[in-house]
Amino acid sequence: MTASRNSTAPAAQPSPDYDVVVVGAGFGGLYGLHRFRQMGLSVVGFEGGGGVGGVWYHNRYPGSRVDVESIDYCYYFSDELYRDWTWSERYATQPELMRYLNHVADRFDIRRHFHFNTTVTSAKWNADSARYQITTNTGMHVTCRFLVMATGQLSAARKPPFEGMDRFKGDIVRTSHWPEHDVNIAGRRVAVIGTGSSGVQTICEVGKLAGQLYVFQRSPNFSVPAWNGPVNQVLYDKIKADVAVEREAIFNTPGCNHRARIPKPAGDYTPAEQQALLEEAWAVGGHGMAAIFSDQSLKQEVNDIVANFVRDKIRAIVKDPAVAELLSPVDHPFGTRRLCVDTDYFATYNRDNVTLVDVRENAIKHFTETGIELVNGDQYEVDLIILALGFHAFTAPLSNAGIENEKGERPNDHWKTGPRTVLGITTAGFPNLFFPTGPGSPSVLANMAPQNEFHIDWIANCIDYARQHGYDTVEATVEAQDKWTAHVADVSNTILRRFVNNYMVHVNEDGSRVFIPYVGGMDRFARQANEIAAKNYEGFRFGNLASRSKAA
Ligand SMILES: Cc1cc2nc3c(=O)[nH]c(=O)nc-3n(C[C@H](O)[C@H](O)[C@H](O)COP(=O)(O)OP(=O)(O)OC[C@H]3O[C@@H](n4cnc5c(N)ncnc54)[C@H](O)[C@@H]3O)c2cc1C
Repeated sequence: MTASRNSTAPAAQPSPDYDVVVVGAGFGGLYGLHRFRQMGLSVVGFEGGGGVGGVWYHNRYPGSRVDVESIDYCYYFSDELYRDWTWSERYATQPELMRYLNHVADRFDIRRHFHFNTTVTSAKWNADSARYQITTNTGMHVTCRFLVMATGQLSAARKPPFEGMDRFKGDIVRTSHWPEHDVNIAGRRVAVIGTGSSGVQTICEVGKLAGQLYVFQRSPNFSVPAWNGPVNQVLYDKIKADVAVEREAIFNTPGCNHRARIPKPAGDYTPAEQQALLEEAWAVGGHGMAAIFSDQSLKQEVNDIVANFVRDKIRAIVKDPAVAELLSPVDHPFGTRRLCVDTDYFATYNRDNVTLVDVRENAIKHFTETGIELVNGDQYEVDLIILALGFHAFTAPLSNAGIENEKGERPNDHWKTGPRTVLGITTAGFPNLFFPTGPGSPSVLANMAPQNEFHIDWIANCIDYARQHGYDTVEATVEAQDKWTAHVADVSNTILRRFVNNYMVHVNEDGSRVFIPYVGGMDRFARQANEIAAKNYEGFRFGNLASRSKAA
């Protein structure tokens, strides 16, 4: 297996061939490129954005920051890297995350192997050569033996559905593709549409800058305080003292992090003790609120204890009772949509320059030349509209890349009733295709930075196994896929969030629902992934071209 890298080769020349093509330069793709090169493989990377960073490159809106603690949300594969880098606060901002990922790209000499501003538009499997033929939007053609789609789960933004966008004379920006140039907010009349995680972070910052901010809210979301501040130095020192041990330790936790507390059922506590625990968790802040009681994600009555506590907090913070009610989610249990983690989100609505506009019943009709008009005729004149509309999660980045197997089928052709994968890493019928942190893995339910490392290592070991044994192809069997897909469904059967419409749930025409990520926890996932590998990739079929041509 060899490669020559020449993107300017004339069309008549054979396409450059690589052992591995990596698509995406976020946490997954950067580590993937490094890891595969370390194995002595020839690798090239493609990234649609203009630089490294993945979501942190694209989502550069004001207030953008991680909501998992930085000392966990980073790479663990290199002791030196972990020790040399110092996070400046508990939850790093987008600029600090970008400095970190650029540092990683330079330190491990990754950058020069990526083609930026280059989107993969088709990837067709050729069974005769056992290679993918890759085409990009810039007209590049390369072939590769293994295709690693590190394209992320939240990289395909929803298209704005609003009529009249081209009529609006002011500026429109999207949080998911925030412009690289400065966006003028200070003193202007601004609208934010969308109150998910990105919307919440944006609103907190824009509220401080704008002359007038209108927040258009269709459905309120639960949000808990971040209480950002210095990192937990005691824990940070402990991790730095033995990074490798701590790396294994986080892979043995459900959330892939250092959250210490193991929750017990609510029934183990008196009501007074329950309230004390809730107050304690609120004071600590962050995602810990989603795991105070082990049964809060399973039992409505236990979830109500947490949800009512948070609603009371909203009422206590927001001065106008009518606004507080509008901001209090009543249509979904606590933690059943992505939990937002904020800095003064609810207090922002106490500002004189911030107005909440309820568009649940009275929807946005269209954009006008000067602003936004609702169905009932209400008009809001603004200079800038910020769209925070979320993503087509999980499957869209794969389908947008035009992956096809020998029969011309795409993964989505097989996934009409929900994604079907083994470990959320690969799918039957598509040889040599891998997609770290994909549907059917813990994915967005657990800390995504080190989780990407685990997936890439698993993929690298699988490729290495194939090479060591002289195989050209590896493919999940349908049986293994049926087994894993049934397991993913099984562990999600009893969770409340399966019944709430959000980007983690696939709803079929017959009303049946599939919860897409693996809810069994990173620890359980890692154990099973390691077992499959230890059993020589049980459930996978390996092949080589020589035996194929002999059989033919
Ligand atoms: C605003 C925001 C905040 C988040 N906060 C957290 C958090 O606090 N904690 C957490 O664990 N997770 C968080 N996430 C989830 C986030 O997706 C992961 O943390 C992580 O960054 C994913 O890394 P990745 O490498 O898998 O994918 P990404 O970072 O999504 O990178 C994928 C890259 O692939 C590129 N790409 C896609 N398709 C193509 C193509 N066809 N051709 C070429 N390039 C392509 C994209 O441009 C993108 O740069 C957040 C996500 C968002 C959007």
